[in-house]
Amino acid sequence: MEAITFTLHDFLRDFYTPAQCLEYLRKLRWPDGIHCRKCDRVTKHHLRPEKKAYSCQYCGTLVRPTKGTIFFGSKVALPNWFWIIFQFAKTRTGITAKQIERELGITYKTALRMCNAVRSCLEEDHTLSGQCELDETYLGNSRRYFGRKRKRGRGADKRPCFGAVQRGGAVVAKVVPNTKRETLYPIIEEHVEKGSEVFTDEYKVYASLEKMDPNLSWTYRHDTVNHSQGQYVKYRRDGTEVHTNEIEGFWSYPKNAIKGVHRGVSDRHLQGYVNEYAFRQSHRKDEQPLFFTMLRHIVPVERLAA
Ligand SMILES: [Zn+2]
Repeated sequence: MEAITFTLHDFLRDFYTPAQCLEYLRKLRWPDGIHCRKCDRVTKHHLRPEKKAYSCQYCGTLVRPTKGTIFFGSKVALPNWFWIIFQFAKTRTGITAKQIERELGITYKTALRMCNAVRSCLEEDHTLSGQCELDETYLGNSRRYFGRKRKRGRGADKRPCFGAVQRGGAVVAKVVPNTKRETLYPIIEEHVEKGSEVFTDEYKVYASLEKMDPNLSWTYRHDTVNHSQGQYVKYRRDGTEVHTNEIEGFWSYPKNAIKGVHRGVSDRHLQGYVNEYAFRQSHRKDEQPLFFTMLRHIVPVERLAA
């Protein structure tokens, strides 16, 4: 299926004014109309742009489509927020607060806070099945150390992360305190359906995946590639390709971006960055432009009971 494109031209046409953004939020949030608390029924509401709200035609009660979202109470105009989300959706490598500072003429601090707010909304809860790949990695290099001599590899300035991908599908990626069995197994159990086929490297923690659940004769069909022996793909007789290329390919995005684009990320916001890249990866085959999928995650939808 061909993905629908949403260009900069489309964006500027549809989200140029605060009123346009509010209208979009209203439709997204209240697809069945706005239920007025005071009149106790769905009534017609009119836009009150100066209050960033809608008021009931009969009693004047105000409702705010930004309530409970990252936009609420922000001094930054809605088109600027939407523009940042548009940028998040448009790039594969991510956009930096520095670029946003320059392009929107807001302070770096505000831009960074906005980016982290958007990222915090992009956490998803996927359940993977079929053929899955698991792999852990180390991400980070905190700002404090940037430009100075750092320890390489599994040093103190990097945080362990665990990821699982369903081949051709969604990604689950988490910053974890360590890569021990007792840390990783509950995540696997929660996000990978039992009975799935899982591929990993030879890291010893994965060795008992096959019999994780004592009540089952086997929990996961598990197969490994032996990276330490220079093996990157193993072809099984049944035609299955055993490798972890897809999950490693996924990790390369946040890895390169944190190093090259963002120039280091603080520990506190690392999960947010991981969310951002996982979100893009999980939705890369969507028909709907990513921009609208992101907005859907930011704005709660209030449906009326039928
Ligand atoms: Zn009313």
